[in-house]
Amino acid sequence: MKRIGMLTQIFIGFVLAIILGVIFGPSIAVVQPLGDLFLRLIKFIVVPLVLASLITGITSLNNVNKLLSLGGKTIVYFLATTFFAVLIGLAAGFILSPGKGVDIALPTESAEKAEAPGITETLLNFIPVNPFESLTNGNILQIIFIAIAIGIAITTVGEKAKPLADFFEALAQVMYKITGFIMKLAPIGIFGILAPIVGNYGLDILLPLLKVILAVAIGCLLQVLVTYSIAVRTLGKMSPLAFIKGIAPAGIVAFTTASSSGTLPVTIKNTQENLAVSKEVSSFVLPLGSTINMDGSAIYQGVAAVFIAQFFGVDLSMGQIVTIAFMAVVVSIGAAGVPGAGLIMLTMVLQSVNLPLEGIALIAAIDRILDMFRTSTNVIGDASAAVVVQHQENKASLAKSA
Ligand code: ASP
Repeated sequence: MKRIGMLTQIFIGFVLAIILGVIFGPSIAVVQPLGDLFLRLIKFIVVPLVLASLITGITSLNNVNKLLSLGGKTIVYFLATTFFAVLIGLAAGFILSPGKGVDIALPTESAEKAEAPGITETLLNFIPVNPFESLTNGNILQIIFIAIAIGIAITTVGEKAKPLADFFEALAQVMYKITGFIMKLAPIGIFGILAPIVGNYGLDILLPLLKVILAVAIGCLLQVLVTYSIAVRTLGKMSPLAFIKGIAPAGIVAFTTASSSGTLPVTIKNTQENLAVSKEVSSFVLPLGSTINMDGSAIYQGVAAVFIAQFFGVDLSMGQIVTIAFMAVVVSIGAAGVPGAGLIMLTMVLQSVNLPLEGIALIAAIDRILDMFRTSTNVIGDASAAVVVQHQENKASLAKSA
């Protein structure tokens, strides 16, 4: 077993989960504790890891201007790729027309109409009222705010704050080490999470909505194979194949866990070790990306809105399509990197163009499957940003020293 590489082991766990899930059906749920064990372990390091690695990333930049340049490049890349994602999502929705000719009754129980926060509230929520509460609740966006504030302050204070910088650097190192230990369990954990999901979904649930699943899956695949591949090749000077191979473990963990935030320790580990991204860049770009850069979720919003419109026989006007596109970007920025966040945010998109919220109940039946595709795209997108920003930073510092 030792000689088999980690990626192969993960892949074996993945394939076994599908095969045994299909064979044993719902009774494969006995392996669930293995999945829960792995999930709990990776979740338990997320908060200290994000806090410590982001603070360390900022203090090692040693310069607020550099932070602004890094931040600027990152945000521009995030927005640009999300823009392509929305286009791909809408195109997949219109070309595959998943909502036409679907013959299923709307579930009778009321749809999951959880209140989605408004845009102003989403933005204000970025700022923590009580930092300790943010840490306890694991609110990643607020933790990013805390880390940026502390990181900038440490840099500005200078020598006197050095012990604090050293403390966070040591904490980050220790968290990376723990991530390494936990990753050894990844193949078993992935098996334990995925097998019960496969076992639980009968064909009767999947078949009527197969086209929706296909539209999201194809959209996500195009985003990875076209948008990210072109981006890492042209802007990151990396072979797309090497990129995909390097980030594959995180992609698979994201696929099974459906949580970008939960996958973060693995994403950071993969980008640093396999994609040669520095600690400064990865610890800045990835935590931020895990909550505000969700290209897979944007694709999903586009497909879901078009699907629901088609299902209810609503002809979308050009104005409505543009509104959906805009809202898909906003919502993908505002959604948290946790399972099912996109489904809740879909309420906002549907409301913006007056589509029936009952449509959410239709999507809810298969949302866990869609979540897998969109989350792994989200995570691979974040890693592509890290590769591109790293290369651009290297270029900038080379130009400066020349
Ligand atoms: N589950 C997704 C993520 O964690 C968010 C979503 O539901 O769209 O990236």
